[in-house]
Amino acid sequence: MTRRFKPYTIEEFESLIDKLSIKRKINHIQIHHTWKPRKSDYKGESTILGMWRYHTETKKWQDIAQHFSPAPDGLLWDGRSLELDPAGITNHNKGGIMFEMIGDFDIGQEQLEGKQLYAITRAVAVLLKKFNLGYDAIVFHREYAPKTCPGTGINKEWFIETVKRSGVKMSNERDINGVPDWAAKDWEEAVANGYFDGTRPGDNVTRAELACVVNKIRRNFKPLIEQNKKNIDELATKIK
Ligand SMILES: [Zn+2]
Repeated sequence: MTRRFKPYTIEEFESLIDKLSIKRKINHIQIHHTWKPRKSDYKGESTILGMWRYHTETKKWQDIAQHFSPAPDGLLWDGRSLELDPAGITNHNKGGIMFEMIGDFDIGQEQLEGKQLYAITRAVAVLLKKFNLGYDAIVFHREYAPKTCPGTGINKEWFIETVKRSGVKMSNERDINGVPDWAAKDWEEAVANGYFDGTRPGDNVTRAELACVVNKIRRNFKPLIEQNKKNIDELATKIK
């Protein structure tokens, strides 16, 4: 029996995922390293075939365990059908998409860097966006098993930060230039009255910007209060 695997550049991966429609409900993304083969053992498709043989012949699994194998050259090799759960983490595969990064990323061994780091972190970001998942959907194998996988050299916070900086805009991120319908009238009124300059309605407010708004309100209220005080004083005179 023979099997072929197809390599995707990160750009090809993005258009694959963009067109993808799958019935299975995706709820997490698994991150693994091969440990063996190492980065230095990588020889293209034959390396993926070696894993496939091990998984199907020795482990007796129905196909290669992972959905994608990010390689040191930045290619993402395909794997089992995306309609199938992976064989990545015992009792924790339902709804997963599995990445098996080629390399041994334990401290003192190999480094996750360059094209491979860019491909895995950008691919994860693309999938989070596609399936509307938060960063908490990123799962490291070691969180569910007494293993170091995907390697003690990979800090999870650092990995998530790198996914965030991969340049994929999340669909749940606010568009700072848009005004939500419920706030449209208030925004228009606040701009017309000079409290805001009309730009970036969805952006955060800094302390300096808030100081300007507070002072504008204060300057508008002062004459009102003074006028009221005059009215009250006049009323007090009348009552006497
Ligand atoms: Zn693993």
